[in-house]
Formats: sequence, C-alpha cells, structure tokens
Amino acid sequence: MTPHDYMRDLTRFPAYVYDLNGLREHVAAIRSSLGPELFYAAKANPDPAILRALAPHVDGIEVASGGELAHVRRTLPNARLAFGGPGKTDEELSLALDLGVERIHVESPHELARLAAKGRPAHVLLRANLRLPTTGAALQMRGAFGMDEKALTACARTIASSGPHLTLHGIHTHLASGLDATAMLDLARHIIDWAIPWLEAHNVASPEINLGGGMAVDYTDPETRFDWKTYAAGLPDVPAKLRIEPGRALTAYHGWYVTDVLDVKTTHGETYVVLRGGTQHLRTPVTKGHDQPFTVLTRAGENRAATLVGQLCTPKDVFAADVPVPASLRPGDLIAFAMAGAYAWNISHHDFLMHPRPDFHYLE
Ligand SMILES: *Cc1c(COP(=O)(O)O)cnc(C)c1O
Repeated sequence: MTPHDYMRDLTRFPAYVYDLNGLREHVAAIRSSLGPELFYAAKANPDPAILRALAPHVDGIEVASGGELAHVRRTLPNARLAFGGPGKTDEELSLALDLGVERIHVESPHELARLAAKGRPAHVLLRANLRLPTTGAALQMRGAFGMDEKALTACARTIASSGPHLTLHGIHTHLASGLDATAMLDLARHIIDWAIPWLEAHNVASPEINLGGGMAVDYTDPETRFDWKTYAAGLPDVPAKLRIEPGRALTAYHGWYVTDVLDVKTTHGETYVVLRGGTQHLRTPVTKGHDQPFTVLTRAGENRAATLVGQLCTPKDVFAADVPVPASLRPGDLIAFAMAGAYAWNISHHDFLMHPRPDFHYLE
C-alpha cells in the first residue's frame, strides 16, 4: 500500500504517517554509495520507531543534548554515539561517559577543561569553526559553535598534557546547511585540506574528520535528492577516517502530516482553506519561511489559488500561501503535507492553543 492510499483510509485527523520501509531503502542506498561513515543527527527526528528503522543502515547516531543522549541510548542500547552541541553541562558530560559515548565533540577550551577534570577516559574530536567559503548555504554555522585555530591548538596542548585518560582523535565540523553536492564537496575539500596538516602537526594517531551534516533538501521539489553519488565520488582519498552526520536529508522525505479540511472561505477576495490542526504540529513552513509541499488526496480538477491555514488564532499559522488547490475543494477533503519527516513534529510548539495531538502511524 502506498503512503497516499494508507492516508486516504485514515479516519482520524490530523495524523503523522511515517513510511519506515521507504526510509530504510533511502538510507541503505545512501550508505552503500558512501565511503565515509554515516551517523544520523537525532535532532532531525528522534522518534523511536525512526531511530530503530535507521539503526541497521547507519554507523551511529549523533546526539546534541543529555536528553537526546539518554533517549537514544534507551532506544538503541548498542548504537555507536557521538555527542556534540554547545553549552554541555557537567551533568551531560558525566552522562556521556556513563553511557559509553564513543566520541565527544568538544566545543570550547572551558568544556575540555571540565571534561579533563573528571579524570575518566574520554575520546574527543575538537569542533572547528573555520572561516571557509560556503556560498549558497541556507544556514551558516557561525557564531558560538566550535573553535578557531588558536583555541583548537590550546585544546590540543591541554589534551597532550592532561595524561592518558583524554584521547584526541580528530576534528569535527558542521559549517553550513542546505548545500548541494558540489558545494558540499567544495566545503569538504577545504576542511580536509586544513585538517590533515593540523592533525599531523598535533601527532594525532589514526585521525578522524567529521565533516558534519547539512546536505540540501529542496522543499520546492520533493522529488529531488542530494546527489550522494557525486558527493561520495568526489571526496579525496586521505590519511584519515571520514565521517558525516546528516539529519534532514535522511528523514525529511518519509514523513507526512495529513489532515482534513474544516472550512473553505473567501475573505477580501482571498480564499482560505482552514485545516484541522495547525503549525503547532508542523512548524517547518513557518520556521523555514516556505510553502510546505502537499497533495490533495481526495479531489482533483481545475485549480484556483488559496492559502492553507490551521486552527491557531495567529496569522502566522500558514502551511502554504497562495498555492493552487482544486477549485472544488470542500470540508472533509484530505490534504497530505509531504517532507514532514525531519524538523517537523519535534520542533513544533505542540501545546499552543491545546488542540488534540495528531495520531502517529508507521508503515512497515
Ligand atoms: C543539526 C546538526 C547536524 C544535522 O544537520 P542537518 O541539516 O539536519 O543535516 C549535524 N551536525 C551538527 C553538529 C548539527 O548541529
């Protein structure tokens, strides 16, 4: 049964539908084309069913908080974990050591000092904040993330002088998001060209370079995919183990938010389609400032322009503005918003207005 057929048969809305089979195939294909290790950035969607579906097809999971760490460890007791993110507390660092995190991505000299003070074995990548060309990126990870060269070098010295319990394994980066394969490759080459001599200069044995995530997802064209083959083929052969940690490009495509039309009305010449639920369940279009791609499941025919809104008492509750919908659309019709598998439910402000939560369905 296709996800669309499945959604047409539902009786309660709104609902999230995840196609776990499609997700497995998608990620397995990515991994088979890749040289680098593939970690999944759990913050894109930490739903336990998604994590379990992904686990056999990735090398590990990247977590970005103590909460994610505890959750992923509970869900996948044997997964290899990398722990990143700014502002890690002492409690989070202890939890990482207690739960057997394989790599801690250290974000600052102060964080490293606090980790060193625990006197327990810890395996470290240093997060680098490099000023590299990232033209075309949707989001540049500047600001508080990671360290410049001066701080990185200070950290390498701290590790060298702090005894055998701290091991420096390499460099972690996550410099931009929304880059296509060519731009991402260009960025990766810059990172590698900088990192290899740096790692050699600091005598890092069996060095590792984590190139981060941020592979582009094009919401204006749900059928396009990041060109993993070009990316994989273009990565240079280097004396280091490479790793990537995408989130969005792995899980975005296999989730839908499906709901029914409550009302269709025309106000001051504009047609509004009011849907059950709202952006408190699917914040993605508000956050990204885009029209969420959608399919009308129950009606076809000649189109007219309309704005798709939810039940919230705010003009910001818009899924898609001034988009074509069938002119005969009416209450009871079903609309499925696509590309709702990443940064969708889990980034949304669920309790605002206290409407019922969606049901969740998992296609196996
Ligand atoms: C968010 C994040 C990722 C994943 O980014 P995507 O755009 O979802 O691929 C990877 N690494 C770090 C450090 C992140 O903060």
